[in-house]
Amino acid sequence: MTASPRATLKPGRERSLHRRHPWVFSGAIERVEGDPQAGQTIDVVDSGDRFLARAAYSPASQIRARVWTFEEREAVDRAYFARRLTRAREARRKLGLDLPDGACRLVFAEADGLPGLIVDRYADHLVCQFSSVGPELWRETIVACLAELVAPRGIFERSESGSRHKEGLPSRRGVLHGAAPPPLVTIAQGGTIWHVDVTQGQKTGAYLDQQGNRLRVAAHARGATVLDAFAYTGAFAISCLQAGASEATLIDSSSEALAVARQSAERNGVADRCRYVEADVFETLRELRDAGRTFDVVILDPPKFVHSAAQIQSGSRGYKDINWLGLQLLAPGGMLATFSCSGHVDAGLFRRIIAGAAVDAGRDVQIVEQLGHPADHPVALSFPEGEYLKGLLLRVA
Ligand code: SAH
Repeated sequence: MTASPRATLKPGRERSLHRRHPWVFSGAIERVEGDPQAGQTIDVVDSGDRFLARAAYSPASQIRARVWTFEEREAVDRAYFARRLTRAREARRKLGLDLPDGACRLVFAEADGLPGLIVDRYADHLVCQFSSVGPELWRETIVACLAELVAPRGIFERSESGSRHKEGLPSRRGVLHGAAPPPLVTIAQGGTIWHVDVTQGQKTGAYLDQQGNRLRVAAHARGATVLDAFAYTGAFAISCLQAGASEATLIDSSSEALAVARQSAERNGVADRCRYVEADVFETLRELRDAGRTFDVVILDPPKFVHSAAQIQSGSRGYKDINWLGLQLLAPGGMLATFSCSGHVDAGLFRRIIAGAAVDAGRDVQIVEQLGHPADHPVALSFPEGEYLKGLLLRVA
């Protein structure tokens, strides 16, 4: 048997792998032998030639290898992918999250032991994202395993993430298996029908990470006037209306997103209580404040403001600004649901930013609930980088 290609680490650089962190940075590697191709499986060994992990080789990326397994006896082959995909799917099933009509993240990359792979279910269609060369090389195997495991009507690809470009991979979008998804996939959840544009929408079509948090926020919405800023397809607003909110204003800069919101609102019989504002949130919040408007519930769910450590300061200013405005827009006793999906802004910093905004807005604010990742977006203890979503549900006096 020919030896596998291998990467030997510099002395001392094996420590993160002993802690089961799944990334090997280029600077940790002493030498690479066996001429591995992009995505090919290599053995990673320490300076004393002891096995550490089996990983996908990424010659173009600073993250030079991503670990598939820490078990020396475990081969990376079709059976390996079948096992990992089954394990991820079973975990959701046990939690009651993987429902045939619903939506759920079935595979969340590193957290599920499958770096670079995301699989979302939208009713009977799956959407995959291959964001690094490892899963890219195994794409046919992964698609075949998913087809067998889930038997969906179709599997669609939305591989358009920035990390792909760092790996020298082009964007890809299209049918991988079975039928193409319809222009809007319909999903059902607890009495609400959602329309999702999986082929053209943002991400894989929806922000599945907020599914549980929408219900937490909606629990405070009975009889409330709601402002849903960065609404996308209106999932927070519609959840609040379903829970008895009296009216909702949705702000988003994307006309396509608001068009889908409109269809979901109509489908759920809440369209007469919705107002749509296609505009910049920063400007619109100022206009509403200057007009003396107030709301009982304000939701701030912006896109990622901080993409690198260098942007922490400027991004923090952005978070502070919208939260300062959002707090000023609340009626006495009102609730602010505020989120950040920037991994570089941790829960502590986020809380300090909001505390500063509250002081500047001159409002007394209580934390009613702290919000985070849902169970279908788990965080591996060995991979804290996978945690990005945090939220605070706040009440003003
Ligand atoms: N709350 C949504 C997800 C929001 S994602 C949900 O629960 O599904 C962030 C949204 O902000 C996107 O829809 C994007 O179009 C919008 N957006 C980004 N920058 C914006 C800006 N400056 N003004 C208005 N909308 C913006």
